[in-house]
Amino acid sequence: MRLTIISTPIGFLGSGRGGGVELTLDSLVSGLLKQNHFINVVAPINSKLSDSCSSANLFAVEGFEQRSWQHQDYFAHTQNQEGSIINVMLEKALSLMQDCDAIINLSYDLSPISKTLEIDFPILHLISMGDESLEISNIISKVYAEFPYNFAFHSRAQASDFPFIEDPIILGNGFELSKYTFQEKKDGPLAWVGRVAPEKGLEDAAYVAAEIGEKLNVWGFIEDKDYASKISALYPSGKICWKGFLPTNKLQEELGQCRALINTPKWNEAYGNVIVEALACGVPVVAYKRGGPGEIIKHGETGFLVKADDKESLLLYLKQIDLINRKKCREWVENNASSNIFAQKVVSWLKRAIKEYG
Ligand code: UDP
Repeated sequence: MRLTIISTPIGFLGSGRGGGVELTLDSLVSGLLKQNHFINVVAPINSKLSDSCSSANLFAVEGFEQRSWQHQDYFAHTQNQEGSIINVMLEKALSLMQDCDAIINLSYDLSPISKTLEIDFPILHLISMGDESLEISNIISKVYAEFPYNFAFHSRAQASDFPFIEDPIILGNGFELSKYTFQEKKDGPLAWVGRVAPEKGLEDAAYVAAEIGEKLNVWGFIEDKDYASKISALYPSGKICWKGFLPTNKLQEELGQCRALINTPKWNEAYGNVIVEALACGVPVVAYKRGGPGEIIKHGETGFLVKADDKESLLLYLKQIDLINRKKCREWVENNASSNIFAQKVVSWLKRAIKEYG
C-alpha cells in the first residue's frame, strides 16, 4: 500500500512534546516499511525520523502551533485554524492523495476528522487520547456515524471514553524491539518516565519512592515547569533525580538498569508507551489500574496493578517487585506488542476501512 501518515501537530518529531504519538509513528512506519509498504510522513518542521524509518518520505511543514487539547478547558472551542500546523499538514497530505491508498491521521485534532466527511478518500484516525475535549468527541461521533471503520483506538479503556463507539477497533501499540536491550540486573534504582504534566501523576510516584527511602529517577520532557517545581519542593534535594528527555536508545539503556517503573496516571491513559518500553528492557511495572496500563500489565507476572490513586497499595506492591521474573516482561512484549504485530493489525484495519470506499 501507499500511505500518508499525519503526525501530531504538538512539537516536532524528536522533541518529546508530542508524547507517545512520536514513538507510535516511529514504530508504525518501521513496521510498515518492513512489510514493503510505501510511506509518506507529514510532520512539523524540524522533525526527524529514526534510522529504521529512513526510507519513508518526510514532508516537514510550517504553521502556527495550538495548545494541546488536554491542557485546554474541556468545553473550549477552536478558533480559526487557518495557517495552523494541523491544517498545513492536512493540506500537504491531501496534495499527495493521487498517489496514495489512504491517509492515517495520528493527530488529535478537528480538521483531519471533519475532512473525512468532505472527500471521497479514506482518512483513518488512530485516536491517541481519551475524551479530552467536547468538540473533538462531537466530531468523532458525527464522522463515526457514517464511517465507523475509519476509527481505531489503543485500548478498550480509552475507547470507552467515547460511549457512542459501539464495537471499537483496538490496535494496542507496537515497539521496534531491536531498539530495546533486555537487562537481567534486578537491584537497580526506581524509575518514572513520561511527560512531566499533571495528568501523569508524578507526585504519587515521588511519594512512594520517598516512603521507601530511595531516589526516584525521572526521565521525560518537562511540559509543565510549575508542576515540576512544586513536586521538587515537596522532597528534600536529591530525592528526585531529573534525567531529562533522552532519545530512545539512551532512554532504554538507562531504564533497563532499573528495578521497577512506577506508572501513576491521573487521566484515562490511552495506552502507556513507557510501560511497554520498560517491559521490553525487562523492567517490571507497578501501575495504577486506570486506562491502558490495566490492559498491558499482567498482575503478578509482568508487574502489579493497584487501584487508581491508592498510594499505599502502590507502596506495598513495589516492595514485592523482586517476585517478578524479568524475562517474562520482555516475552510479553515480544508476543504482543512488536512493531511487526502492530503493523499487521494496522494493515487489517486499513483494508477493512478502504473496502468501504469500493
Ligand atoms: N520518552 C522519550 N524519552 C524520555 C522520556 C519519554 O522518548 O526521556 C517518550 C517515551 O518513549 C514515550 C513518550 O515519551 O513514547 C511518552 O508516551 P506515553 O504514551 O507514556 O504518554 P503520553 O506522553 O503520550 O501521554
